[in-house]
Amino acid sequence: NQQLLSEAERLRVVSVLTSVFAHEIRNPMQVTRGFLQLLNEPHLPAKNKQYIRYSIEELDRANAIIDDLLAYGKPAAQDLTRFDVALELRRVENLIQSYAISNNVTIQTRYEDNCWIEANPQKLNQSLINILKNAIESMPGGGTIWLSCFSNDERYVEICVKDQGIGMTKEQIDKLGAPFYSLKESGTGLGMMVSLQIIRNFHGKVKITSELDVGTEFSIYLPRIT
Ligand code: ADP
Ligand code: MG
Repeated sequence: NQQLLSEAERLRVVSVLTSVFAHEIRNPMQVTRGFLQLLNEPHLPAKNKQYIRYSIEELDRANAIIDDLLAYGKPAAQDLTRFDVALELRRVENLIQSYAISNNVTIQTRYEDNCWIEANPQKLNQSLINILKNAIESMPGGGTIWLSCFSNDERYVEICVKDQGIGMTKEQIDKLGAPFYSLKESGTGLGMMVSLQIIRNFHGKVKITSELDVGTEFSIYLPRIT
């Protein structure tokens, strides 16, 4: 089909351009950040130090936006493999552990056997890391995250991420995934957009339940294979 082919080709070009653009813009940002750090000498007045700190923080924020955009611009996962979700959850758990510890968050896990799905494990990991990062960031004073997977349904594998964080209202839940929607001072508002897109790509569904000041639970359902 001619039409479909050209659409795919167009997307590929956009994705390549995004990545070239991102890398080109990142280098001068990195150089600027380096010079700002050099400027930051001990004898400087407090105000000047503050301005330098703000500048570095803003550069880091721009960098985070580029990271998230790059993840979104990448072509949808073509490399599908069959794998056990529990195996990948262990990997994700290790990747997020130091961030959790530095935020006083403990991760409790429970993985059932036979949670087999067909997807791209790197993409799924990326999606889960975004969700786990948000869970950690929702608990400024620390707390517990429950991370689990279940195989009790014949059709779906369920991955569950539950936190004890600030929670969300119905209106806030509805806005999740909208580009640049963030309630954080230095958030990008792109993490959820990327995560939900990835899960949708694998024909998955997400159910979110949340209560203010109690916590949030993400239930991710992915088609099960045997
Ligand atoms: P960011 O984390 O950069 O703000 P995201 O797209 O990852 O952007 O998340 C968007 C918003 O959704 C967050 O700013 C936050 O307000 C809300 N959110 C996401 N996950 C949770 C959670 N587990 N608990 C409370 N709020 C959340
Ligand atoms: Mg986030």
